[in-house]
Amino acid sequence: MSVTLYAFTCGTVTGEFARLMEGGEGDITVPVPVFLIEHPKGRALFDTGLHPDCQHDPAGRLGSRLAALFRIGFEPGEEVSARLEAIGRDPARIDLVINSHFHFDHVGGNALIPNATMLVQRGEWDAGMDPDTAMKRGFDPRDFDLGHKLRLVDGEHDVFGDGSVICLPTHGHTPGHQSLKLQLDSGEVVLAADACYFCRTLRERRLPRYAHDHQAMLASLDRLEALERSGARIFFGHDPEFWRSVPQAPASIA
Ligand SMILES: [Zn+2]
Repeated sequence: MSVTLYAFTCGTVTGEFARLMEGGEGDITVPVPVFLIEHPKGRALFDTGLHPDCQHDPAGRLGSRLAALFRIGFEPGEEVSARLEAIGRDPARIDLVINSHFHFDHVGGNALIPNATMLVQRGEWDAGMDPDTAMKRGFDPRDFDLGHKLRLVDGEHDVFGDGSVICLPTHGHTPGHQSLKLQLDSGEVVLAADACYFCRTLRERRLPRYAHDHQAMLASLDRLEALERSGARIFFGHDPEFWRSVPQAPASIA
């Protein structure tokens, strides 16, 4: 069965480059990507971007610590629901929200997708539901504990049962981080999310300063590299240079 993939960048985050990549200098502005996946059996998002409150009150939404570390560029109309409506898709008719992980730039828009089932790794959900771990990992349950129906998975998971959309455990950045592998007509694509921020993260193994587990993160990068060697195209989570070459919806990813 055939799968169509659309990409949106829903705002930006600016912060210290070295925080995101060892050896980075100065500040860097990175895009916040969201993906729409259309499959004959359903419509899914992979990540949902920032919470709309970040448009007018980032400190109120994210707290003073995160707001001091990151400057948010996010205008009305850039939130996931508006981007979907702009291409004629009803946010109330999204079946699945697959979250790579629970950081604020990946789950903030879940609130705008009311009727979806949320599909996450059990390890991420458990970390998010434990107040100590959630605080340590920078998770805010207001982003994801919203009463959505839950589909918790352990490790690799075939989303539609036909091998076309597969959740890949790429733990390390957070306890239950996952990437998404898709079989498009043009070939295999892997949406790495924050298992791999930049192209150079993969090529040079320059890790972010903070991660839940650096060894696990390196093992996830090995896995992504093996997929790339076997022909998959890797979509880097926050690489501004890479994202300049990605067509935005309404164009689909060929
Ligand atoms: Zn991120």
